[in-house]
Amino acid sequence: MTATVAAPAETNAMFTGDEFLASLADGREVWFDGEKVSDVATHPAFANAARTVAGMYDALHDPETADVLTTVDRFGHRTHRFFAPSYSAEELRGARGAIEHWQRMAYGWMGRTPDYKAAFMAQLAEGHAYYREYGANALEWYKQSAAKVLFMNHVLIDPPVDRAAERIDVRDVFVSLDRSDDNGIYVSGAKMVATGSALTHATFVAVNSGVAARMEPGRDDDMALVFITDMNTPGVKLICRPSYEAAARSPFEAPLASRFDENDAVVVFEEAFIPWENVLVYRDVALAKGFYAESGFFNRYNLQGSTRLAVKLDFAAGLLLRATEAAGTRNFRAVEAAIGEIIAMRETVWALTTAMVAEPEPGIGGTVVPRLQTAAAARLFNTNAWSRVRELFECYLAGAPIYTVSSPADLDAAELRPTIDRYFRGTGVDAERRIKLFKLVWDALYSEFAGRHALYERNYAGNQEQQRLDVLGWAEARGDADRMRAMVDDCMADYDLNGWVTG
Ligand SMILES: Cc1cc2nc3c(=O)[nH]c(=O)nc-3n(C[C@H](O)[C@H](O)[C@H](O)COP(=O)(O)OP(=O)(O)OC[C@H]3O[C@@H](n4cnc5c(N)ncnc54)[C@H](O)[C@@H]3O)c2cc1C
Repeated sequence: MTATVAAPAETNAMFTGDEFLASLADGREVWFDGEKVSDVATHPAFANAARTVAGMYDALHDPETADVLTTVDRFGHRTHRFFAPSYSAEELRGARGAIEHWQRMAYGWMGRTPDYKAAFMAQLAEGHAYYREYGANALEWYKQSAAKVLFMNHVLIDPPVDRAAERIDVRDVFVSLDRSDDNGIYVSGAKMVATGSALTHATFVAVNSGVAARMEPGRDDDMALVFITDMNTPGVKLICRPSYEAAARSPFEAPLASRFDENDAVVVFEEAFIPWENVLVYRDVALAKGFYAESGFFNRYNLQGSTRLAVKLDFAAGLLLRATEAAGTRNFRAVEAAIGEIIAMRETVWALTTAMVAEPEPGIGGTVVPRLQTAAAARLFNTNAWSRVRELFECYLAGAPIYTVSSPADLDAAELRPTIDRYFRGTGVDAERRIKLFKLVWDALYSEFAGRHALYERNYAGNQEQQRLDVLGWAEARGDADRMRAMVDDCMADYDLNGWVTG
């Protein structure tokens, strides 16, 4: 008789929206506008974004959406599909569906929803042994992350200062070890920047692959650290950028900024205590260099990022259609070409996600992850796509969005309203609808929120040169470049000075 191992009993500890909001009032030190924020979930700089994320947590429990969003992992945790490792293309496709569903709730305008860092956390289920004596910590963090659908942010990048110096010589700013004792390690330094961090449960801290590649054993050990810190750790400060949500006067004026503004914050550690159970790599340059490539994070975060952008491009295409219709320019040939281009871009990005889920490669421990080269190509296409969208809006919607009123109060001014109704009407739409539509365009393309989004799209996946260098590096490492060279050699072998060599 073959012994069968019983599947673990299913548990459901996923946060609900209310539990998520309550979990944020944990004493974390968040600085905004000269003040420590006592509860981010109710503060005007963060409350609406928090409510948007809470809605995503509620959807995990909603019978209408639970199936598309959740699965049960091998430990029995009911969890978001991207929070569990995928063991087949079918499971990866399901994970994409869950990413898409959450993204549609924000029309593609929140990059760092909780599923972003799940790209990394899910792989700890099978990849925990990489962390050697800290492997049990990694596995426990997987379980916590999957069970609760934890919202993690990450910081990989050093602050933009003294970049030409050796990192170890910038200890006054870059994150490094102060000391350790029986209970854990103490670290100081700053990181640039933690998107969404004010609303998250924990920060993942490491160095990106480009910087890690330059680290040397013996010299950089005190900076060869990978750890996770709870947001309420004493000595951890979040120093936030301005809030576009707080600045938004009404949904009518800023329909995106007022609910999808994921604040980016500088994270500062001042003798912050990290218990040993939160340490993954300690003074080990080789492991600090290798974790990024080993984890499958790169392959997987590009699936999350591509799916998010695909949803956003759907939205952009709809927005240009609606706006050019309202301007009465929709049927001009050049305008149609611009709309067609954005639609082709969304098709391209959706197709890239399909390639990533349909033709994955083996990951750690029997998992599958999107193929590395496809993920790298998607990363490069994606980070350049949004600037083209902005260019098309600027050229083909041109000045139409600036033909607007200062605020909804103008529409409420009885004396002015007839004038507005007459002169601000659109093609086939009344003045109020036209103004509403073009304020949405403004928020998406030209507001401060929009400017930050453009900067995010361009840079969130690393600097532009590194993105290209990685494509080449992996083509060399995986033999693609040699196959390309061989093709040219074959072609040149077809002929010589005397003509065709082959028949
Ligand atoms: C809105 C936004 C949100 C972000 N959120 C996060 C986040 O949540 N977590 C996180 O970790 N990071 C985040 N980032 C940071 C992001 O990952 C970095 O901006 C990105 O990796 C590029 O790094 P950098 O800005 O340091 O630019 P750099 O790496 O300094 O690149 C700028 C240019 O400088 C040159 N250069 C720099 N260094 C070298 C070198 N050593 N050798 C040769 N040339 C060099 C290159 O020409 C390069 O193109 C965010 C950034 C933005 C804008």
